[in-house]
Amino acid sequence: MNKKIYLDYAATTPVDMEVLKTMLPYFSDEFGNASSIHYFGRNAADAVTAARENLAHFFKCTEEEIIFTSGATESNNLAIKGVLRAYEKDKKNKGKIAHIITTVFEHSCVLKACQELEKEGRAEVTYLPVYSEGIIKPADLEKAIKENTLLVTVMYVNNEIGSVQPIAQIGKLLAKINAKREEKIIFHTDATQAVAYFDTNVKRLSVDLLSMSAHKIYGPKGVGVLYVKKGTRITQIQDGGAQEFALRAGTLNSTGIIGLGKAIEVLAKNKPKETKKIKELRDYLIKKVLKEIPSVRLNGSRSKRSPNNANFSFSDVEGESLLLYLDAEGMAVSTGSACSSGSLSPSHVLLALGLKPEQAHGSLRISLGKYTTKKELIIFISKLKKVLEKLRKVSGEILKEYYSKKK
Ligand code: PMP
Repeated sequence: MNKKIYLDYAATTPVDMEVLKTMLPYFSDEFGNASSIHYFGRNAADAVTAARENLAHFFKCTEEEIIFTSGATESNNLAIKGVLRAYEKDKKNKGKIAHIITTVFEHSCVLKACQELEKEGRAEVTYLPVYSEGIIKPADLEKAIKENTLLVTVMYVNNEIGSVQPIAQIGKLLAKINAKREEKIIFHTDATQAVAYFDTNVKRLSVDLLSMSAHKIYGPKGVGVLYVKKGTRITQIQDGGAQEFALRAGTLNSTGIIGLGKAIEVLAKNKPKETKKIKELRDYLIKKVLKEIPSVRLNGSRSKRSPNNANFSFSDVEGESLLLYLDAEGMAVSTGSACSSGSLSPSHVLLALGLKPEQAHGSLRISLGKYTTKKELIIFISKLKKVLEKLRKVSGEILKEYYSKKK
């Protein structure tokens, strides 16, 4: 039996043992609904309050600015549609269509939300280019701003190629622009892939809204946060109870929230040390692969990149086959985002960088985490070499012919 090696931490992470221990009583003995007034409810509510305090401390905001959701997909939808709904409800905007600025390579939950709003005729959307390194130019953003610009939503770290956007710089730019505008532009960032490694002080970033998911930071799946700066014009998008300061209806996932509260506490304690260690391992991986494997390129920026991300394109192979052969060797990696795997169209992120479809098809995302070791990377690299050699022999000629006919 092959030893299994997990190198897909950007897809999800295992729950930290300390987090699990903290959560366990809240599945059984402490099962109350945090909205109930009695003893059981109060116990759950107290633990949720403690988790909220941890998150507020981490993001450097107040507890009322932390809105618990089911994860980043919901947080992003609430940010975009909640801001638009508030705009539409305002009588003075009657008959007007709002303008949203985003990037071409956001996560599908942001892109599809924007595309739906365009189709429904509720918003016009500008998709900023990200150039070969996967980074937007603030000057492009400034040029795209119009009188009816309502929202700017730019992801902090890209989930496929790990490129980092200049969020604090954009925040400052928008603050300067807003100082001269009556209708302020709201700034949202999807920080799902950034929370573990980058500065998430919402004041320093000058963001109004920020999304994250617990399962990317060794917390449970199905829980996340939308940070909502006090005074931001936003309404709830699902109707129901008045939970989460009337911004997110539905019984609180108290067990999940308590797990997230612990996960953020554990993360805060170890962040600088872990970031340094993971970055060193990533650099080792990138250096070895580029040096020892022929016909390979690194996708995304070399320097402005998440410490845990390596994304390569290998010529003359098909990423899906590479992934399956590596899986048979016990190596868990990804061809793009897990959410779009199963689709055979090339990654929209890699195409946005200017890669040809065949380059995008031959790509692998390798993402590291706090349990990754150098030994694991050494084994992975040797398996990768073996599998590539085999596949290139078989499929190289076939793929070359296929793509030359397509041209
Ligand atoms: N945004 C980004 C950047 C992500 O990486 C992900 C998860 N792949 C999401 C949003 C969605 O998170 P979730 O699936 O937890 O809702």
